[in-house]
Amino acid sequence: MDAIYRARLEELLQDTPIVDTHNDFAWLLRINLHNQIHKFGFNFNSNSIVSHTSIPKLRKGRVGVQFSSGFVECKNADQYSRNFNLKSSVVRDTLEIFDITKRLCADYPEHLKFVTTCDEAIGAYHEGKIAMPLAIEGLHQIEGSLSVLRQYYELGIRYATLNHNCDNPFSTAASSIAAGLPDKGLSPLGVECIKEMNRLGIMVDLSHTSYKTMHDVLNVSQAPVIFSHSCAWALTHHERNVRDDVLLRVKENRGVVQICFFGEFLAQDPDHPTRASINDLVDHIFYIASLIGWEHVGFGGDYDGMEVTPVGLEDVSKYPDVIYKCMERGASDEDIRGLMGNNLLRVWKSVEIISDILKSKMPRGRAIEAEWEGRKWEYFEYLQDVNEVFPGSKSIYFPSHKWLPSNH
Ligand SMILES: [Zn+2]
Repeated sequence: MDAIYRARLEELLQDTPIVDTHNDFAWLLRINLHNQIHKFGFNFNSNSIVSHTSIPKLRKGRVGVQFSSGFVECKNADQYSRNFNLKSSVVRDTLEIFDITKRLCADYPEHLKFVTTCDEAIGAYHEGKIAMPLAIEGLHQIEGSLSVLRQYYELGIRYATLNHNCDNPFSTAASSIAAGLPDKGLSPLGVECIKEMNRLGIMVDLSHTSYKTMHDVLNVSQAPVIFSHSCAWALTHHERNVRDDVLLRVKENRGVVQICFFGEFLAQDPDHPTRASINDLVDHIFYIASLIGWEHVGFGGDYDGMEVTPVGLEDVSKYPDVIYKCMERGASDEDIRGLMGNNLLRVWKSVEIISDILKSKMPRGRAIEAEWEGRKWEYFEYLQDVNEVFPGSKSIYFPSHKWLPSNH
């Protein structure tokens, strides 16, 4: 029987890559090696590397497209204070993660290829390489500024998770709801941000967002959305998972839920809320597929972003095992193609097409200039005396300025 499943997978791999939308390996390199991947004997292509992710493990897992999460933690120690003006180094740190991902691809060109379009990802797969696009995990990483979002897009990010475990000026996080705070959903600035993501061609990722944020985004997004790493709430009542009414709207939206392999989101035994296995993962896949169809599920492992992995899902080499289990439970070749990666690629392509249409409709592809009204603009005191070159500008903007002592 196993031989039949293996042969079926080989056949499917002829034209369908396995796509995973969430991997924190770049973050691991940053905290472990301080970005120095030419030191400490680091070799990504070694069989002895103990992280969940390595080239030999990705190859064994038959991975074709691996999104690299440009994850940087929420730095505000009081993440519920909603004082988003606190100073942080999050933009620097995000750029460092992008740099690591790109240098990793450059160091192993026979295996990895940095890509920024859906066609490039498919092309790299057919060249026998693992395509590696970028993402960010939480809009705290743009510090309230759509300008930063646009520049991240220029640097290659192709999906952005709206939250990590903190609120931001755009939207409310699942972790806030879990802490008993009100669910404010998407802010008016968040609505503008979704429009800008649609226009730029950045996939909107609803993992880590609150229940109301999910609905609010589904009301405004003109493009299909993704959940880059989440599971079914009906099976495991965790705020990081997706409730049935939201799943039904994801179907309508033509989006996709990339199932996370993290034990706490998968576990179904209330006595052991963190213990899970590959069978729980397959249950979540089948639950979502039976509710909204096989066109709306995929993989979002979260490898190297979790300490303990479920039994049977120890590292990135395990995707074929999940696929065999799905075959065993009766999934068709077409179902499996979608799960492997075709669903995510369909969403990515459609986000690109919608972006092209939106850009062509706007004069010179005009950017959205909405700005966060809570922002404190900081200038040196001597600038108070600068002439008002553009009539009216001083009276509009001066109240939000913070004047720093001039240092000359
Ligand atoms: Zn996460």
